[in-house]
Amino acid sequence: MSGVNKHFGDLHVLKDIDLTVHPGEVVVLIGPSGSGKSTLCRTINRLETIDEGEISIDGTPLPAEGKALAKLRSDVGMVFQAFNLFAHKSVLSNVMLGPMKVRGKSKKEAQDLAMALLEKVGVANQAHKLPAQLSGGQQQRVAIARALAMRPKVMLFDEPTSALDPEMINEVLDTMVALAKEGMTMIVVTHEMGFARKAAHRVIFLSDGQVVEESTPEEFFTNPQSDRAKDFLGKIL
Ligand code: ATP
Ligand code: MG
Repeated sequence: MSGVNKHFGDLHVLKDIDLTVHPGEVVVLIGPSGSGKSTLCRTINRLETIDEGEISIDGTPLPAEGKALAKLRSDVGMVFQAFNLFAHKSVLSNVMLGPMKVRGKSKKEAQDLAMALLEKVGVANQAHKLPAQLSGGQQQRVAIARALAMRPKVMLFDEPTSALDPEMINEVLDTMVALAKEGMTMIVVTHEMGFARKAAHRVIFLSDGQVVEESTPEEFFTNPQSDRAKDFLGKIL
């Protein structure tokens, strides 16, 4: 994305954001509450419109609407803080739905793919339960499997572990680290330093809608350059 600006009324929430994420790269977005991290993520599949600038995915500019937008959206997998699974459908159906409805897969193909992905995230034995019967960590892993079922080109994670009990955080982070190691392109909003250190190629520090700092995780956490980053790290570490 380049030159991206976004306002909510008088609030200038994204200020001249230039950001390129390369295939296979893992970028961690970090910053104070209200700095625009979620908004930035949401512009990438046009859940939020932008006022100025350009966003492309795999070289294709993000279209404003219609079928072309739906196509590009399906290339972007999103996992949020709240798991957003369909409550009245089984775990397996939750993962099968996208491939059948959007990718035109047969029921058999969708089921095989869904089971393989549930296996991969370690919840295959929960496939026939309803989401509410799973722990938060298991539900979040189902949400990851559901996003992966669309074979996305990039995965966006917006604070995927912040609603979880501490003992469940690692099982979700481990799943994400594994995904990163496989070469998935990922943009991850998180304050989990362990994840950033293990998996991120780049940390981007956002403050007041601006990219204030951009460096390796090692550099960012041990030797932040800006006062704003120092102040922020002082509060979360
Ligand atoms: P957090 O760490 O708390 O999740 P964030 O960095 O994700 O914060 P955003 O959710 O992107 O921050 O919000 C950035 C700013 O934009 C905030 O001041 C927020 O109140 C405002 N904002 C977000 N969404 C809207 C909206 N739909 N309408 C008006 N203002 C909004
Ligand atoms: Mg947010």
